[in-house]
Amino acid sequence: MNFDAGRKALDLDEPSSAASGAAVTARIVAEARGGYVIEAAEQEYPAGLSGRFRHQAAGKSERPVVGDEVEVELSGTTAVIHACRPRRTVLARRAAGGGEIPQVIAANIDRVFVTMGLDGDFNLRRLERFLVGARRGGAEAVVLLNKSDLVAPAELERRRQAAAAVTAGVPVYVVTTRTETGLDPVRALLLPEQLVCFIGSSGVGKSSIINGLLGDDVIRHQAVRENDQRGRHTTTCRQMYRLPSGTLVIDTPGMREFGLWAQTGAVDDLFPEIRTLADECFFRDCSHQHEPRCAVRRALEDGVLSAERYASFMKLHRESRVIAAKVDLTDKLMLKKQEKALHRQYRRYPHRRF
Ligand code: GDP
Ligand code: ZN
Repeated sequence: MNFDAGRKALDLDEPSSAASGAAVTARIVAEARGGYVIEAAEQEYPAGLSGRFRHQAAGKSERPVVGDEVEVELSGTTAVIHACRPRRTVLARRAAGGGEIPQVIAANIDRVFVTMGLDGDFNLRRLERFLVGARRGGAEAVVLLNKSDLVAPAELERRRQAAAAVTAGVPVYVVTTRTETGLDPVRALLLPEQLVCFIGSSGVGKSSIINGLLGDDVIRHQAVRENDQRGRHTTTCRQMYRLPSGTLVIDTPGMREFGLWAQTGAVDDLFPEIRTLADECFFRDCSHQHEPRCAVRRALEDGVLSAERYASFMKLHRESRVIAAKVDLTDKLMLKKQEKALHRQYRRYPHRRF
């Protein structure tokens, strides 16, 4: 993504006015393989984990990510991260290779814009998958159907309705970045100080939409610099942008595939009509596959429930059941460790407010 043109960049090399050794609460605004950039009191600092925290956060899901609120110690122009505060929401996916620990992509996100193209990319099953993943972590979801300029009006309306029928009430917006048509209602959703992100397959227009929303008057958070923090070469994975509305946007490249990290409940939420049908099944724990008097299969045979929707539900359910037990466990562990780390901070800096 290229947000460079004519934008004001905060310079990490600027001398800081903050006193050395001060402990403050900060937010992670950029993340790279080599470290972080945090923002505290409207100043940015390159930051790394303290040795102790690095050791504690050895499990991937406990390492701070963009959006995390962290306790840091400022020393001159840099910062050391000592602890991560409990997260309000997470955006997580199954790590490549399907490990046991979810890969947390970002934290404390208020709204996720699930973006899909109305052109050849249009795929309801993929939309369902992204929606389950997006909502599972507690953030609100919105669907953006982009590239409306590429589809004839009748087909566009057909696709919009088809999408709206599978989102369980999550609002669907039709947009195009070619003419900016439809972007105003999306802008109205961008509230000051809220943290939002855009997910969806590569090429659906996430960058174009963000660029359209950014306008020219934006503060671009500086990328993490490699090695001595001075080199030109950047290796930033994720970073945050402030929109003119004051909304913070997390740029999440690499969201091409969305390995599901969800509990079965998150899947059920997206398929309310199946949940209602399931209440009528003879067996309470009906798997809707081969049991007698299964209301879901009956609806399928009667054509009330579409075969695609049923197959999608079964597939997402199967995936989420496999990891359900692990999710519960890791979530609890994650929270506990974060709380412990915070308490250690209280003890270390008893006079500070955290
Ligand atoms: P990303 O990978 O999701 O960030 O997608 P990009 O923003 O890089 O866009 C992928 C391609 O789609 C680019 O060539 C864009 O110019 C094009 N694109 C984005 N939005 C629209 C749109 O509304 N209509 C059309 N026709 N093309 C678009
Ligand atoms: Zn059943």
